[in-house]
Amino acid sequence: MFGRMQDQPLLISSLIEFAAQHHGDTEIVSRRVEGDLHRTTYRQAAARSRRVAHALDRLGLAFSDRVATLAWNGYRHFELYFGVSGSGRVLHTINPRLAPDQVAWIANHAEDQVLCFDLTFLPVIRAIWSKCTTVRHWIALCEADALPADTGIPGLRAYEEWIAGEADTYDWPSFDERSAAALCYTSGTTGNPKGALYSHRSTILHAYAGALPDTLCLSARDTILPVVPMFHVNAWGLPYCSAMTGAKLVFPGAALDGKSVYDLIEGEGVTMAAGVPTVWLGLLNHMAQGGLRFSSLKRTVIGGSACPPAMIRAFKDQYDVTVLHAWGMTEMSPLGTVCNLKLHQTKWSEEQQMEVLVKQGRAVYGVEMKIVDPQGRELPWDGRSSGDLLVRGPWVIGGYFKGEGGDPLVDGWFPTGDVAAIDPDGFMQITDRSKDVIKSGGEWISSIDVENVAMAHPSVAMAACIGVPHPKWDERPLLVVVRKPGAEVSRDELLSFYAGKVAKWQVPDDVAFVEAIPLGATGKMQKMKLREQFKDHRLPSA
Ligand code: AMP
Repeated sequence: MFGRMQDQPLLISSLIEFAAQHHGDTEIVSRRVEGDLHRTTYRQAAARSRRVAHALDRLGLAFSDRVATLAWNGYRHFELYFGVSGSGRVLHTINPRLAPDQVAWIANHAEDQVLCFDLTFLPVIRAIWSKCTTVRHWIALCEADALPADTGIPGLRAYEEWIAGEADTYDWPSFDERSAAALCYTSGTTGNPKGALYSHRSTILHAYAGALPDTLCLSARDTILPVVPMFHVNAWGLPYCSAMTGAKLVFPGAALDGKSVYDLIEGEGVTMAAGVPTVWLGLLNHMAQGGLRFSSLKRTVIGGSACPPAMIRAFKDQYDVTVLHAWGMTEMSPLGTVCNLKLHQTKWSEEQQMEVLVKQGRAVYGVEMKIVDPQGRELPWDGRSSGDLLVRGPWVIGGYFKGEGGDPLVDGWFPTGDVAAIDPDGFMQITDRSKDVIKSGGEWISSIDVENVAMAHPSVAMAACIGVPHPKWDERPLLVVVRKPGAEVSRDELLSFYAGKVAKWQVPDDVAFVEAIPLGATGKMQKMKLREQFKDHRLPSA
């Protein structure tokens, strides 16, 4: 017997319509690339999203066709979130920090039909447009008169001109809630980046869960500043959560330095902000230098990399701001765990509470997790046993876009590549990483890509790239090299060998020359051993 309830699909268009109807006057404030502050409302954003939907229809885009963005956090990007997905197309947010060739590779793999970009990224588009074989329409996110005269990009149009003549009303289509809504690529440990393809259903369920009190605790009384980029797992789902709850939204654009972020928080009365640790370091430094205080900020969500305990303390002790330490992945939409105390822990001493608050936190309802030993046997939640962390749930991927990399699941569970312990209260703490990647300032560096460049150098016999702790970037790559017998190559020579081969920020910070790299039984480099060996290595930039 089925329940007798209305079978309404969970669709992204319903979020923006809800926000327009119930929170029509609530503001969306964006710092633009031009430097000024732009103000709009949910009502206007909904109207412009509908225009986007019409404009896409006019281009003849089919259901599920991909529309890419290369853009900062801002109101036009927000409108695309709803206009593209709401009309049944797939919003493909591309990370503009990748090397131009990687951007082109991703656009081709996704078979993007339209690519919308902020003018900041015009040089990238100039470099790649002829290599993007499927993109038929290039849209610059600006007014027509801001478009440079001779860009050389065929058919380039300004966003404002593109949507100007379209109607403010639109009959959003209804379809299966499992239809694809958004696509985000993540740098793989081996081979090329892989896409996580979110559905309307997964996105809405994730937004419901994200707003819960023990998740991010969002409401119509909040002013939310997503510093985390909209190209990085949809700014952790905050654009959707904000529309669902009617919270005021503040977008920082390209200005992510401490002063700009602080001015925005104070100027707009931000109550909740979200970002990776590196961003908050800049903010805290700026505040300490100027002896500044917060007048509205109550909490910050910090995730993407482990939040240093000193940062949690600084926010709490000096500024009375609660840090919500969160963990997730592109493959998980991204929310997995958030660190909020349970009732009995509120009675503990501050020191005991801090021991909990530095952990990555408790599972959000909707995410199941388990830790296993190398044989796949489940480990106890005793806070000591640590093993491979696996997850499952309605907003965790079942496979990558186009089936890349085969079936990633193990008995229906997604292996995260993180190694963790879980305590009896269910608080998960990451203890290591089994995947071979480095995370610098919230962005991935593929160790294998870095190693492949070194291995192409005639003097290198073997190269391993590992992450070592860094005070600003959390981790930076260190290249560990075994030279060929009799070969001479210096640190600087090797580092200059990277020019033009990877993005600048992906070049290792340092090189350590060794006699041998530890190998496992199958000949695989033992990165865990290397990370242990070099954990105190002092990088020149640290
Ligand atoms: P991404 O897909 O880029 O969001 O990266 C997800 C990965 O970032 C996770 O699998 C972890 O390795 C790492 N990560 C995310 N949040 C945290 C955190 N709070 N602490 C430690 N590592 C984290």
